[in-house]
Parts: sequence; structure tokens; C-alpha cells
Amino acid sequence: MAALNIERAEFLKQEDILIFEDSVAKFLDEHAPESRVAKWREAGIVERSKWREAGAAGLLCLSIPEAYGGAGGDFRHEVVLMEQTARKGVSGFLTSLHNAIVAPYILHYGSEDQKKRWLPKMASGEFVGAIAMSEPGAGSDLQGIRTAAKLDGNQYVINGQKIFISNGQLADLVIVVVKTDPSQGAKGVSLIVVETNEAEGFHRGRNLDKIGMDAQDTSELFFDNVRVPTSNLLGRQEGMGFVQLMQQLPQERLTIGVTGVAIMERALELTIAYVKEREAFGRRLIDFQNTQFRLAECKTEATVARVFIDRLIGLHLEGKLDAATTSMAKYWVSDLENRIVDTCLQLFGGYGYMNEYPIARMFRDSRAQRIYGGANEIMKVLIARTL
Ligand SMILES: Cc1cc2nc3c(=O)[nH]c(=O)nc-3n(C[C@H](O)[C@H](O)[C@H](O)COP(=O)(O)OP(=O)(O)OC[C@H]3O[C@@H](n4cnc5c(N)ncnc54)[C@H](O)[C@@H]3O)c2cc1C
Repeated sequence: MAALNIERAEFLKQEDILIFEDSVAKFLDEHAPESRVAKWREAGIVERSKWREAGAAGLLCLSIPEAYGGAGGDFRHEVVLMEQTARKGVSGFLTSLHNAIVAPYILHYGSEDQKKRWLPKMASGEFVGAIAMSEPGAGSDLQGIRTAAKLDGNQYVINGQKIFISNGQLADLVIVVVKTDPSQGAKGVSLIVVETNEAEGFHRGRNLDKIGMDAQDTSELFFDNVRVPTSNLLGRQEGMGFVQLMQQLPQERLTIGVTGVAIMERALELTIAYVKEREAFGRRLIDFQNTQFRLAECKTEATVARVFIDRLIGLHLEGKLDAATTSMAKYWVSDLENRIVDTCLQLFGGYGYMNEYPIARMFRDSRAQRIYGGANEIMKVLIARTL
């Protein structure tokens, strides 16, 4: 039984979407059961073959046109995949980053040649995608990045270092945010694609030891005189990277909101089931008014978040979603997600603190949602600009 009674938006209830949802659920049950996900958590990485399997099942590049090997769907399909992945606790298998963040940069800014070269491989799972913005010295303030790409004939020579890069150990294709003109701020930033398997001088650093998202290979990346053809620049001219990021980050932020609400729902479902079973002082935990009130509050807030996010998905499908509103979704939903998961964990008592309980892992995983995609404070800076 779903934890929230609120009806989903009409556009998410259409028959083809419900059929797709069913097929995603079946795929995850078969290919990512809890026992398998536990192995990924131990290894700190999802096995490569899973990407091929997701590709073969048509789950990669969902909103990329069929002409480029994609599924020809739209953002609704991405929403379904993200929600099912979150609802089933498959944290770490970042198809959402590959599909809804990396592939769209190539679709929107890539030349016809680039799209034909990279998107079919991303759709089949032959290539895993990543985007490398953050550096040891610059995360929130992307204008301060130091990774530089210097023109040398018909090649760029890239030098620098990136950190916290999701899919970093697996990635075959990395969109690297570089300075093509270090004398400029935002206007000196460009996006260049590096095919890691061919790139001499490209090194992967540590698969970083995180407090959560254990199955995710979040990594350091090093570029030491990495040469790529100038044809790997995304967009027609240098210096467009910042604008491209500003145009694409809203979708990334919306995906964080979409996942956040799905996690709230899962936390509520698990907790409601638990408090109906567990007894203390001769009563079920649900029979204490404190339990009822806390969960009533969580359910109310999660319902408000669901309505808000569904509305934003609708606006995004119509091309009417602005950056400030997605910033609201990113910060407010991820903050709420953390509060709800924390409240739920408390109701599990000591068991809630044990990693073998999903609520414990959700607590650890959720924390990152307030940081990546732009720290929540940066979201408030963006919203404040519209005041
Ligand atoms: C699990 C995980 C996955 C990630 N995946 C990726 C990825 O795939 N690709 C990628 O490029 N990056 C990724 N990141 C990096 C992430 O985007 C950055 O950590 C984030 O943008 C913050 O940058 P920073 O860590 O350098 O923090 P800083 O910029 O040093 O900021 C630290 C804190 O200072 C505060 N702060 C900063 N600026 C302001 C301001 N103007 N006003 C008020 N407060 C401010 C905020 O509280 C902020 O959290 C990932 C991070 C994590 C944790």
C-alpha cells in the first residue's frame, strides 16, 4: 500500500506510463534484488554488467530520441525510473545521472556527429556517463575551477583534478568542466567530453569512502596532459560552458526533488508497517499518540511535497519550469526528506541505527541530497536573486 493517498498527476497515470512503471519494477526485482544491492554496497560499486542489462532492457537514455539509440520517451519516463529505483532501495546505481543529467548535455549541445558517436553507446550501456564539475578547491563557486584545456592545433590539452565525481570509477564518458580561457570568469568555462578509455594521462583516483550511498563509485579524477580532439567541445564555440550548466542544472535539481519524495514515501511505508508490529509497554508503537502525531505530520508534509513536485514535473514537461522554482524544490524537498527520514528512524529505536535496516541506510544516503546538485544554501542564493 502506498504511504500517500494523494492521486498522481494525470500525465503520470497514462496507460503507457503505468505499463512502463511495471516493467521497471520487474527489471529491478530481477536484476537488483536486495541481496545484489548488498553486494554492491560492500564493493562500493555497481557491477558493470548491470549497465549493459539496463541498456538491453531499454532503461538507458529514456528521453533521448530513437534516432540516437534512445528510448524516445520524455521526462515522465525518467521520473518513473528514478522513483522505482528509490522506492526499491537501489541506491548507488545512478542511471538517473547517466540518463537525465549527462545524456541531455550531449543531446542539447552536441553536434550531429557527437550525438551519433556517443548517445547510442550510452543507450546500450557500453558507455557509462559522468559529469565532472567539482574540484578540491571549487564546488559551489564553479567559476573558480582550475582544470584548464589549452588549444594545441586541433587538440585540447587538459590538466587538472576533479573530486566527488559520481560514476567516477565506471565512467567511459566524462563531461569535464574546464577553463578554456583562465583569464575570464564564467565566460572562460567550456564543457569538453573525454572518452576515458582512449585518454592517455587520464587517471582515476580513490573510490571515495562516504558516510552513505555505499554502492556509488564517487571518485577523484586526474587529467595529466590529456589530449582530446577539438571536436570534443560541446557547443559551437568555447566559453559557453557556464550558460550550458545554468540551463541544464534545473533538471538535475528537479531529479533530486523527485527522488527525495520517493524516499519520503518509502520511509513512511516502512515505518508505518514497523510501528504497527512493534510493541512497548503492552501497546503497539502506533497506539502512542506521539507516534500517530509524528507520522501524521510526516505524511502531511510528504503529501505537500508530492503535489509540489508533480506540479513542477508538469511544468517541466511543458518547458515552463524556471531555475528559481527548481532551486526551491531541490532545497526544500531534500531538507524535508532528511527530517522525515530522521523522524522515521527514531521510531525504529535502536534498530533504526543498524545498517541492516533500510531506514538506517536511507538516513545516511539522504544526507548527500542537501549537498550535491548545488548545496542548499546556493539554492537560496538563486531564489533570493528573484526577490
Ligand atoms: C555523494 C556526492 C556526489 C557528488 N557527485 C558529483 C558529481 O557527479 N559531479 C560533480 O561535479 N560534483 C559532485 N559532487 C560535488 C557536489 O556538487 C559539491 O560537493 C557541492 O556542489 C558543494 O561544493 P563543495 O563540496 O566544494 O563545498 P563548498 O563550495 O566548499 O561549500 C561548503 C559549504 O559552504 C556553504 N556555502 C558555500 N557557498 C555559499 C554561499 N554562497 N552562501 C552561503 N553558503 C555557502 C554551504 O553550506 C556549502 O555546503 C558530489 C558530492 C557528493 C557528496
